Amino acid sequence: MPSYKVHLVGGVATYTILYGLLPLVIPTIPTGLRYYVMWLGFALLGSIFPDIDVYSKMQQVLFRSLLVLLPCMLYLRYLKAFIGLGIVTGLCVCIRHRTITHHIGFLFACAVAGSLLVIQQNPHLTLAAAVCGIQFFFGAVSHVVLDIGLKKALFIRK
Ligand SMILES: [Zn+2]
Repeated sequence: MPSYKVHLVGGVATYTILYGLLPLVIPTIPTGLRYYVMWLGFALLGSIFPDIDVYSKMQQVLFRSLLVLLPCMLYLRYLKAFIGLGIVTGLCVCIRHRTITHHIGFLFACAVAGSLLVIQQNPHLTLAAAVCGIQFFFGAVSHVVLDIGLKKALFIRK
């Protein structure tokens, strides 16, 4: 099992690849330092997110963040986000390691749900939120690939 530092390197690699590819696919992609930093953050978050189901850096980050995020969500009346984050957190604490949080479908659903929540509250941020979701998802995919091994992930046999 690679350490969280290896997963963060995978997140940086994912970000770098998407940084080059996404403008080719989305010509109107927003540009600017704040977007690049935000997308790097989501790629890094995605790269350690799957280990939320075990005592890890991600779980520590989550629990510390929840102390700030949940009261803020209630104060701002983001009830759907509050409930969604509560359900995901409760689910992740109750399950075994490398089950649903390492499943590509679950990771995709998290990325889509997170992007849609932001878009619903801020429709003018649709493209930026979609790119955040893409960075998060592929960062998480890099985590799963590193966990199972690159050769096994690419179906390469000895
Ligand atoms: Zn993992």
